[in-house]
Amino acid sequence: MTACDSKKLPENVQSWGRYPKHFPATILRPAWRSDITFPNEGAVLGFGLGRSYGDSCHNSGGAIIDCSRLNRLLGFDETTGVLRCESGVSLGDILREFTPRGWFLPVTPGTKFVTVGGAVANDVHGKNHHCEGTFGRHVLRFGLLRSDGVSLECSLESNSDLFRATIGGMGLTGIITWAEIQLKRIETPFIAKESRRFSSLDEFFDISTEFDARFAYTVSWTDCVSPQKYGRGILMAGDHAAASDSLPGVPHPRTKTFPFDMPSLALNRYSILAFNAAYYRSHFSQLRRNIEYYDSFFYPLDAILHWNRVYGRRGFLQYQFHVPFSAGKKVVSDIFSHIARSGEGSFLAVLKTFGSIKSPGLMSFPREGVNLALDFPFRGKSTLKLLDELDETVADAGGAVYPAKDARMSAKSFKKFFPQWIEFARFVDQKFSSDFWRRVSDG
Ligand SMILES: Cc1cc2nc3c(=O)[nH]c(=O)nc-3n(C[C@H](O)[C@H](O)[C@H](O)COP(=O)(O)OP(=O)(O)OC[C@H]3O[C@@H](n4cnc5c(N)ncnc54)[C@H](O)[C@@H]3O)c2cc1C
Repeated sequence: MTACDSKKLPENVQSWGRYPKHFPATILRPAWRSDITFPNEGAVLGFGLGRSYGDSCHNSGGAIIDCSRLNRLLGFDETTGVLRCESGVSLGDILREFTPRGWFLPVTPGTKFVTVGGAVANDVHGKNHHCEGTFGRHVLRFGLLRSDGVSLECSLESNSDLFRATIGGMGLTGIITWAEIQLKRIETPFIAKESRRFSSLDEFFDISTEFDARFAYTVSWTDCVSPQKYGRGILMAGDHAAASDSLPGVPHPRTKTFPFDMPSLALNRYSILAFNAAYYRSHFSQLRRNIEYYDSFFYPLDAILHWNRVYGRRGFLQYQFHVPFSAGKKVVSDIFSHIARSGEGSFLAVLKTFGSIKSPGLMSFPREGVNLALDFPFRGKSTLKLLDELDETVADAGGAVYPAKDARMSAKSFKKFFPQWIEFARFVDQKFSSDFWRRVSDG
């Protein structure tokens, strides 16, 4: 157990956006499931690898139970592809062990530095949402330790209410100690990729339907800052390559570390404009095809460790929302104009469509429609004001903002985005809480 100095930030339990900062009173790091204990005083919260952006993995003044040492593989059935592992095993650990054996994750987010517990708690989605739905759909069962010391096995057949509440339940129903996941068969660890440039949002919506029908994985980068040109971008799609394809060699793993906190002045309207224009132009041809290793296709940002330092010490916020297809084009276009008027530039805008496959998770974020994620350097009140305004547009269109990326949404917005929260609140373990939950469940 570590008792925390209230003046010193414990770096390794901060979230990825580095805003807001949090000061837990205690950090527990159990090495074995039987070592997990709950302090008598104060609220507790499980913690994975801190790849949530905002404050859903923060518990200021309370205890954090860091589960990353619970990282053992417990069993694997080579014939069915069912993996049983502890909750602190990372998606990267699974890929390293099972990709060479012809198995892959059924769903993966844009980083592999995520634990199985964190992937369940946020019911993460990936580039194949339109074909496979969320991570929680591929979880067969898990162990849940409640603060009264009772350990439950949860699945669709047993303790099914808690199973549904825990998938996407933001860590509030107890500690996930282990899970059983259905992996997916692959012939090779390579991806046959096709990328296509589009010059407007209209064109994106035209081609994305065709790409979603043709490919297992799709995602787009979009320029949301260049005057007159916003909405242009690059759509990237792919399938697992077949053994009969002409495959390149497996690349040597290479990572670099972003060495320092960038001064906040370096990220301004002009540098963001220049980056967006250069990125668009780097894709010379209208259509490009190649075969690449899964790592660079799924996790381009993982190649630069600590890339979040690019936003400087003040940190950044990611704003991710979805709205139904019927409102999609108009809302995305309105939001781009709103951002342009506000002068707050987003470096990275990732646009993707979600399919209709439902998750078992009660509070799961993805719903069928258009999904956009934007990164904003934190500049204080002006950034928070812009995001509050965007919340109104999203709520009016019947959409929702992703709690895993959030650090500021109001209780009012949360309750509009997730009207099922009242049903969910019945399953929250009374000893569990987070900075996010205290903010959104009040008022
Ligand atoms: C570069 C990048 C790209 C990303 N791309 C995507 C994406 O494409 N799709 C997507 O959905 N998300 C994406 N994310 C977000 C990330 O996948 C989620 O926030 C994920 O839940 C983080 O997992 P973690 O192990 O780091 O958990 P943490 O961030 O530490 O915690 C996340 C939540 O899980 C809970 N938790 C953690 N472990 C346990 C446990 N053992 N028992 C109970 N509760 C637990 C915590 O209380 C918290 O509520 C991305 C993040 C980054 C940094």
